[in-house]
Parts: sequence; structure tokens; C-alpha cells
Amino acid sequence: MSKKVKGTAIGIDLGTTYSCAAIWLSRKKRVEIIPNEQGNRITPSCLAFNDSELLVGENAKNQIARNPANTVFDVKRLIGNRFSDPQVQNDMKMWPFKVMKGDSEKPSVVVEFKGEEKKFAPEELSAMVLKKMKETAELFLGKEVKNAVITVPAYFNNQQREETKEAGTRAGLNVLHLLNEPTAAAIAYGVDNLSDENWNKDKKTVLVFDLGGGTFDVSLLTISKKGVIEVKAVGGDTHLGGEDFDTSLINYCINEFKKKNTGVDIRGNPRALGRLKVACEKAKRDLSSTIFAPIEIDCLHEGIDFSTKISRAKFEELNATYFDKCIQLLEECLRDGNMKKKDVDEVVVVGGSSRIPKIQRMVEEFFDGKTLCRSLNGDKAVASGAAILAARLSGNDDDMKNDVVLLDVIPCSLGISVKVNGVSGNMDIIIPKNRSIPTSKKITLLVNQTRVDIIVYQGENAKVMDNILLGEFELTGLTLGPDRKSKIEVCFSLDTNGILLVSAEEISTRQRKSITITKI
Ligand code: AMP
Repeated sequence: MSKKVKGTAIGIDLGTTYSCAAIWLSRKKRVEIIPNEQGNRITPSCLAFNDSELLVGENAKNQIARNPANTVFDVKRLIGNRFSDPQVQNDMKMWPFKVMKGDSEKPSVVVEFKGEEKKFAPEELSAMVLKKMKETAELFLGKEVKNAVITVPAYFNNQQREETKEAGTRAGLNVLHLLNEPTAAAIAYGVDNLSDENWNKDKKTVLVFDLGGGTFDVSLLTISKKGVIEVKAVGGDTHLGGEDFDTSLINYCINEFKKKNTGVDIRGNPRALGRLKVACEKAKRDLSSTIFAPIEIDCLHEGIDFSTKISRAKFEELNATYFDKCIQLLEECLRDGNMKKKDVDEVVVVGGSSRIPKIQRMVEEFFDGKTLCRSLNGDKAVASGAAILAARLSGNDDDMKNDVVLLDVIPCSLGISVKVNGVSGNMDIIIPKNRSIPTSKKITLLVNQTRVDIIVYQGENAKVMDNILLGEFELTGLTLGPDRKSKIEVCFSLDTNGILLVSAEEISTRQRKSITITKI
């Protein structure tokens, strides 16, 4: 992480619903959020394909009701996932655009573009959003942007990270680092607050609660006065956020429509679903500041108008399970980081969905009435943290007061499955999630055959098929001892760049093999 690169480097928060780009301005000694051509600091992560062109951002979002089947959003929910994943199958039911099974189990988005049917892999679509962010930055800065730090949810697994990185490369960017979103927010918080005179401790424990459009990330960190940011634990859910709250409202409205119109179901009408989605998201946002929000749509389906009024209490009731889940995951993160709630000095809330009053109340109550820090602008904190790291990695941080040092943890457990007679079933965890990096761990295996296959996985599930395959290698010609067994030492070694070296050595003969897996 310390290697410096040439050229302008920006930070990009690639969000499920919105994206944001930022740059560290060394002359002004601050981060600048890069506005888009409409002058907004956030750009919808939305794409629209039509007969003549591709629209990205605001223009794409604005025409969704007219062209729902060819307007694509939520790509972050697809990236790195398999088509058959239950979450993908579930999400698909709510999308007005078509998703099919593509190559090697990957989902593929099918749209009509310039009069032809086109299929796009998730990383190709994310690349279009990233390209737009790059071009917007170039227009604003008046120079080419070559490098970027891109943020990802802390909970993203290897495949999701690989494909996000691939999207960056396809967009013409040199991806300096994939930074966990809550860590990015913590860097922004750290740089904003390091000179705070009220900071009377050497080290502060900060919990970052980041509830966005598609993902929930929670991170427990310590920040020292010297600028060392040490991540203690990360947690969350890659499928929990504002979109789920929208879906609850949409489902409620679908049922209301059914009730009012003797069983008429609008589910098969993508245009109606698209319009309802826009109206529900707006009502949800309104409910953060009002007690009632109307939803009124003319000619929603078969010429029938739809009109209802949602109360804040109803909204909270519809989403109670999701809200409770956030608190459970928060508790889990504290447990993983071996901390009690009283150890936490600051609770920083970021992400658009953390504006929901009920969520704020629940977090405050969890921390026994502690006042939450909302000073970080959710829309820009993540991009700001990424911009600060980008400046540091590209050597454009001479004027940064404090040298930010980042000590991270691994977001998902790493382990192996040992294939015996061609069968591999379960994964044994070697390095559990939330272990600080760098780290290493050795285990000894007793093998009763002359060949052993070591298969490396990432994930939290006991069954290998539910985890992500990272790589495999074999040791052959093993020498069995008098007990018909050979002793094999397997070593996992993970460096600060997230590069994993897995080696296996037969102790009696010193025969050794290893593989290197990059970007965990
Ligand atoms: P983010 O990914 O952090 O940009 O968050 C985007 C999500 O926040 C979307 O689901 C928005 O609908 C949601 N959001 C933005 N503002 C509000 C608000 N005032 N109240 C509730 N949700 C909001």
C-alpha cells in the first residue's frame, strides 16, 4: 500500500443507488467532492439503453418510467454473485429489467440497445458507471484521471472484489486499492477530527454504522492521535439497505392496489412497478421528516389510478425485521472486536438510510442514549476517505497534516478443504474473519494416501459449495510412514495487501508446494 504512482488519483464511492467521486486538493488542504454535469454531488448508479445511445446517471434515472425494461440499476447487488444465489433470484422479481444465466453461473443483464438484444455482465455495467465518474472528474479537473481508490462494502467477498476491480480496469482506471466503505468513512472522520482539541485520549474507539441503499456495513475501529487507524472488526450484510425498505413499501402498495381493485395484480407490469418504485422511494425519504406521506400515481395499471397514504409508524412496522437485523449485526461486530458498548467513544452514522429516525433511535438506545455523530455527510464521507487514501497512495498528500496509516482486518474467513479420494465436502476455517492483517497460521494434516489436494475457500459456510473457491493445488508422491500416514504442514500467510500465500509441505521429505492468491 505504500507504493506511490504517477498521475491524478481520485476516490470513488461506487454505491448501489448513487455513486460519488472526490479528490484531495493538496493546495487547499481539503477534499473536494466532484459535482456532475447537473451540479449534483451524487450521481445515480443507473444506466439506460435506447435506440441511439447509452445514458448514465441522472439522465438514465429520469427516463426510467418511459423505458423500464432497458433501465438498469442495482448492479452492485449482482456483481460477484451467482445467478442461482437466492438473493439474486429474489431481487430479480422486483427489477423491471431482465437478468439471465450467463457464462460460468454468472448473471447477465439483457437489454435492447440500438435495436439489438445485448447481454452485459455485471462488471461491464459497473464499468459504465465508473467510466462516467472518471469522465465527470476529468471534465471538472481539466485533466486526465488515471488512478482511483474504489470503495466496496466491508462484507464483499473475493469474487465481488475481483469483479469490482475488473470494472475499474474496464473503465480505464488503475485501481490503486479497494477500500472498505466504513473504513473510508473512518478515514474521513479521522482526518476531520485529528486536530480536535477536545480529543483528550491517545486513541478513540469509533463505531461506523453505514446503512446505504443496498448494503449495511458496520465497522469497529480505533483511531490514534498520530493517525493510525486500526480496524478491529467489520460486519454487516451485503443485502440490507434502503432498497429493501423500498421493496417493503412496494409490496404493501401492490397489496393495497389488489384490495382496492378486486384482486388486480400489477406484478407483471414492469412500467407500473418502475413508477411505483420511484414513488415509494420518495415516500420513504419524506417519512424521515414527516409523519405521513401520500403515494399518488395516475393510471398506474390498466388505466386505474392508485392513491394511498403511508404513516411513519406503518413504514417502521413493515421494516421492523430489517431494522432489528441491523442491531443484531451491530452487536455481532462488537463481539467480534472484543469490545463492550461502553468502550465505544464515538458512534458515527453514515449512509442515506441512516437518516431514518427509527434507525437513529434504535442505535442511540443500543448505546444507552449516546448522541450519534452525524457530522460526517453520509453522501460524501465514503468518497472523501477514498480520495484521502488515493492521494496518499499516489504521493499527492504532501500537505496532509497527519499521515494516515491503515491497519485492516479480513472481512471473510479463509480455509481449506482436503480432497480425499476425489470427494471434498466441508471447509475447515484456518484464518477466521476479522483477524488483523498481516497474519499467518499453520496447521498439520495427517494423510493416509500418496496424494492430497488442498483446496482454498473463502466464506463462513461449513459446506464448500456455499463458499467461494479461491484456488487449489496438490502434493503427489507422498511417502507414507510405518503408520501408513504422512504428516503435512499447511501454512496460510496473509500480507497487508490482502495477498494470501498458501503452502503445504510434507514434513518427512520437505516436499513443498504453494499458491499465491491476490486480492482477498
Ligand atoms: P447511499 O447508498 O448511502 O447513497 O444511500 C442511498 C439510500 O439512502 C437510498 O435507498 C435512499 O432511498 C436512502 N435515503 C436517502 N435519503 C434518505 C432519507 N432522508 N430517509 C430515508 N432514506 C433515505
